[in-house]
Amino acid sequence: MPREFILTERIAYFSMEIALRPDIPTYSGGLGVLAGDTLRSAADLDIPLVAVSLSSRAGYFRQRIDEAGRQHEEPAPWDPARWARPLQARVAVTIEGRVVWVGGWLYILEGHMGGRQPVILLDTDLAENSEADRHLTHYLYGGDESYRLKQEIVLGIGGVRMLHALGFRIRQYHLNEGHAALLSLELLNLFARPSEDLRPGEGPYDIPRVREMCNFTTHTPVEAGHDKFPYGQVQAILGDFIDLPTLKQLAGENELNMTRLALNTSEYVNGVAKRHAETSRHLFPGYRVLAITNGVHPYAWTHPAFVKLYDEHLPGWCHEPELLVRADCCIPAESVWQAHLQAKRELIELVKAQSGKSLDPEVCLLGFARRMTAYKRPELLFSDLSRLKAIAGQRPFQIVLAGKAHPRDQEGKRAIEAIHAHIRELADSVPAVFLPNYDMESAAAMVSGVDVWLNTPQPPLEASGTSGMKAAFNGVPHLSVLDGWWAEGRIEGVTGWGIGNGDADGNDAASLYEKLEQVVLPLYYDNRPGWIAVMLGAIAKSASIFNSHRMMRRYASDAYVR
Ligand SMILES: *Cc1c(COP(=O)(O)O)cnc(C)c1O
Repeated sequence: MPREFILTERIAYFSMEIALRPDIPTYSGGLGVLAGDTLRSAADLDIPLVAVSLSSRAGYFRQRIDEAGRQHEEPAPWDPARWARPLQARVAVTIEGRVVWVGGWLYILEGHMGGRQPVILLDTDLAENSEADRHLTHYLYGGDESYRLKQEIVLGIGGVRMLHALGFRIRQYHLNEGHAALLSLELLNLFARPSEDLRPGEGPYDIPRVREMCNFTTHTPVEAGHDKFPYGQVQAILGDFIDLPTLKQLAGENELNMTRLALNTSEYVNGVAKRHAETSRHLFPGYRVLAITNGVHPYAWTHPAFVKLYDEHLPGWCHEPELLVRADCCIPAESVWQAHLQAKRELIELVKAQSGKSLDPEVCLLGFARRMTAYKRPELLFSDLSRLKAIAGQRPFQIVLAGKAHPRDQEGKRAIEAIHAHIRELADSVPAVFLPNYDMESAAAMVSGVDVWLNTPQPPLEASGTSGMKAAFNGVPHLSVLDGWWAEGRIEGVTGWGIGNGDADGNDAASLYEKLEQVVLPLYYDNRPGWIAVMLGAIAKSASIFNSHRMMRRYASDAYVR
């Protein structure tokens, strides 16, 4: 291990997925992109982290869409040896009574300002292991429940052991979602009091000491979204790693709930937006859940044309994105519009190259891209096609969409097929294109190249959402349901526009159509200076706040140092 990484104490940041770069497919969506942006900000701000994840050699998947609009998943393997160096250490974990060896890779994340952060990618694909065990770290969110539990043993328990074997000194652990919560069981064992030291009535486990070291960020506002395992299965796979009464006390009476375990073993707990923290407090009564609203990495998500503008007018913004608050006074409107047109032309070229379809640079372009899953409501925009056509009859608009459905998410896959049917039906009045294989790269092109970024989740299920923040860095206004970060980021007509009132049962489709027809399209076509003012408002009042530098500084001051 390079000495620079083990000289100082570090924060161990555990995440099941992490988006390191577009050509390393170890992420499926927002959670992984957030983990990547966290590391990128830590690199820029010199906050010493070490990330721990799985190598996911088989990748997530490459999405292909057939003639009928159906998703097909193609393998997206990657070769860690090409990007990372093998670790010199091996550790063992016990799974189903067998020893499973865990090796891995050191990937060094290099920030654009010269900072470096180590990333440990755990890997069980070793000759010492059985064929089945060699595949344990291959598939991100693949396999069945028992495969998931085994992966979580490798991540949580194997991860802590690997950090120690490599000589890291860890001052705090940060659990990005509950997947790595088993790490706190390893810490309980590590810090267990020897039986001869026990006072009457005292157990061996020093729970307060472990809590002092752990921080937990929850991302899932619904109970059903949390990983849970029946205790029979846990005992068969994990054995008597920790005694059952203690485990039940920490992780739930009836089944092992990874979120409960993380909540009970972490002194600092946060949700990823103010509204999400509130939802989480209702979901987990009795726990102190604070809020650190997510952010996106400034440089990573800003189109080069806007990087140039910010460098020129607000030097230092890459380290201190708060400076963008001055954008509306310091950056000439015309140069913002020109930078935007460049990004829009590039997106239109990408769409042409990938789909053969031509979009019109003069026509307002709406963008929608995210994981295709029910709560994101990708079909809300299409809920009344004749209304949509009527709106386009007054003032034209066009749409670009993208998104992958998890291979087992039948509802998400059906939505992709349905969207393709809508696109065909709208062909004569609203040009629309679905770009296959949504990833970091196409996300960057879309959030900068569209005129409006659309977001229509079912409240209160969007914990934060981050793609609208990426849009803000590119002066692209957000048109979104009032959920997640937008519940606090929206200033009506200044940073973008709200849809509905944020209630679970609001008529969001009607509200969306009305905003589009009455506010968004008229401003775009009839008042260009007014439109550019909203673009500048998004930069000044959204990007200056909703960035991962602010988020990391908050984690450093509120969670890591306490
Ligand atoms: C930013 C990003 C996401 C998350 O976007 P949301 O708005 O949170 O849904 C998902 N996938 C990719 C590829 C991204 O870049």
